[in-house]
Amino acid sequence: MPLHSITPPALKFGGDRFYVARWQRTLLFALPFGVLAFASGWFLEGPSGQFSIFDHVTYPIMAVTLAALWCLLALDKHNLGLVVITIVGGTSAFLLGKLVFLLFFGIEAPSVLAQLTETFFWVPVIYLLSFVLPGVTIGRRIALGFTLVVLALCSVYALWPDHPQRTLGVLYALLQINLANSVLLGLTQAFIGFKEAYTRNQTRMEVAERFAEIDTLTNLPNRFSLQKRVTTSLEVARLRGTQVALLFIDIDGFKTLNDTFGHEAGDLVLKQLAVRLQNVLRKNDFIARISGDEFVLVIEDVEDPQIASFVANKLQAELVAPFHVANQAFNVTVSIGISFFPEDADDVDALLRHADSAMYRVKRSGKNGVQQYRRETDAQLERQRAMERDLRAAIQAQDLTLVYQPIHDLATGEVRKFEALLRWSNPTWGHVSPADFIPIAEASGLIVPLGTWVLHEACRQAKAWQRVCARGVQVSINVSPLQFAQSNFYATVVEALELHGLTPDALELELTESMVLHGVDHVTSTLDRLQRLGVSIAIDDFGTGYSSLAYLRDLPIDTIKIDRSFIKDLGSPRKGPQFSLALVEAITRLAQHLDLDVVAEGIETKAQCDIAKSLGCTAGQGYYFARPMTTDAVDVFLRVTAGEPLRESVGLAN
Ligand code: C2E
Ligand code: MG
Ligand code: MG
Repeated sequence: MPLHSITPPALKFGGDRFYVARWQRTLLFALPFGVLAFASGWFLEGPSGQFSIFDHVTYPIMAVTLAALWCLLALDKHNLGLVVITIVGGTSAFLLGKLVFLLFFGIEAPSVLAQLTETFFWVPVIYLLSFVLPGVTIGRRIALGFTLVVLALCSVYALWPDHPQRTLGVLYALLQINLANSVLLGLTQAFIGFKEAYTRNQTRMEVAERFAEIDTLTNLPNRFSLQKRVTTSLEVARLRGTQVALLFIDIDGFKTLNDTFGHEAGDLVLKQLAVRLQNVLRKNDFIARISGDEFVLVIEDVEDPQIASFVANKLQAELVAPFHVANQAFNVTVSIGISFFPEDADDVDALLRHADSAMYRVKRSGKNGVQQYRRETDAQLERQRAMERDLRAAIQAQDLTLVYQPIHDLATGEVRKFEALLRWSNPTWGHVSPADFIPIAEASGLIVPLGTWVLHEACRQAKAWQRVCARGVQVSINVSPLQFAQSNFYATVVEALELHGLTPDALELELTESMVLHGVDHVTSTLDRLQRLGVSIAIDDFGTGYSSLAYLRDLPIDTIKIDRSFIKDLGSPRKGPQFSLALVEAITRLAQHLDLDVVAEGIETKAQCDIAKSLGCTAGQGYYFARPMTTDAVDVFLRVTAGEPLRESVGLAN
């Protein structure tokens, strides 16, 4: 939530209970002094020799009024506004009335002086009280009006032609009173102004700080607070030599709940869950919501690690009763991972990561359980997840590239096609082999967008090469099982071909044996449609999977690529080659019968090349011919083979 949309708690009168109660107490204490002052003045004025008929009438009125206001305020603090305004208004009226009486109704000068000093003590009361109610301006207007009227009355007195009782002493006193009043009003206004600005600022900061540390949906502390809290907990634990446990709690199937019943239902479940989790907490435990459906519980001073598991089980027990949202009952379970300081890690991030990995292990083993971090297994898992995160970012930023390895015709030596192979390098991981990142992309589903990108990029490149090399060149891409299983796979291929203006015969798709064997109906129909379109199909890494030969007959396949592990053995003096020789020969015979192309993968030596050729392989791929090349290198290669002069040197990729 942006900070500007947070309004500080209303400072309006009555908006802050604490503020009102405080002023109520203060006035209940002060008002009796006012009552006493006016009452004693009434009784003692005569005997003291300061008698004035005005006071004699108004003092009892003021005393009774103040006493009545005291009662009003004692009965209900919400009368504070009324009481304050009445005191400010009443005292102003009283003082002004008295001033008019003193200056214009024939009182003796010495008596005027005494009366002025006696009563004008009350001016600060007006000023101070006029600022009591923040945001309410009526009191301030009265105070200002009072000052201006006093000034006007004094000016009239001073300038009145032939005023009978005017003396220099009275003029001097009035001047002092006005000057003092103005200073007092100015100072009060400035002081209260500062105070209000300070309070507003302070409140705003408190609110902002609170929002920065609180998750607004559940009102639990957020990730930022968790970080702060755990940092402190670890510092204390380090000093005391105690243990801290972190419980990483993730709701099972929350995404499905959200998708099925909507985000509002999801939010309500989160709120209820937050309340239930808090029920289990002990005094010093701390729980935070760190993202969507993830909560972290911190337990300090853990004497026995069993305690953490015990709390985790208690948490799960607390969730057994169904959650009720919009007349629906939901059963919610959670997966909990636990890590300990100092045993598993000694900084906040690592502890959180480890608890998260342990939680992830619970998810993988069927959810709704508790696991503690295990260094050996979870470290590997963490590495994979970190790599997955970086891979996701790299795919989004289109940081991956394709290199191309030629596939040669063994009879003529000509290049038949280029296989597109993915490359990824990253500052953290360096050059990552596809053998490492493709399985991660497959497990996380990232292979689908990645595979689509490869398809488009390879088609675009093949089209560009067709412009360089008149006879054209076929491009072969690897298709992952998950990508192939997408219902729109066929449409994606068609779209890529059309977008880049490539004819289908310029594209070959490499599938693995396992993929061809699974889900036969879907596979057969998609392969049939692709073949009818004119796209070629190859079986990659043949011999490493099930090697069921029946599908070679039943499915529309054009090429078999014999896995490198068999080709490696060809031409080797060891015993293993007998099997490889037999296998390659058997496959080539079968392939001849079915009219399929056979590519020998991973040819590294001339001997391997010769044997593969003699056994009946029609094509070969491997370092013996060329390593995978950058697009620029392929470009040069094609220009050379097309008879154009070699302008750039051929660059090779690893
Ligand atoms: P693959 O499809 O069997 O690709 C051939 C692999 O063998 C490539 O490894 C290639 O560099 C390597 N190779 C070629 N000739 C030789 C040789 O003479 N000796 C040796 N030792 N190796 C050779 P790479 O590029 O590391 O790719 C490994 C695997 O990753 C590929 O095996 C393929 O299964 C997968 N892969 C690569 N790119 C993609 C892609 O875009 N999509 C998918 N789904 N998988 C891909
Ligand atoms: Mg391949
Ligand atoms: Mg292969």
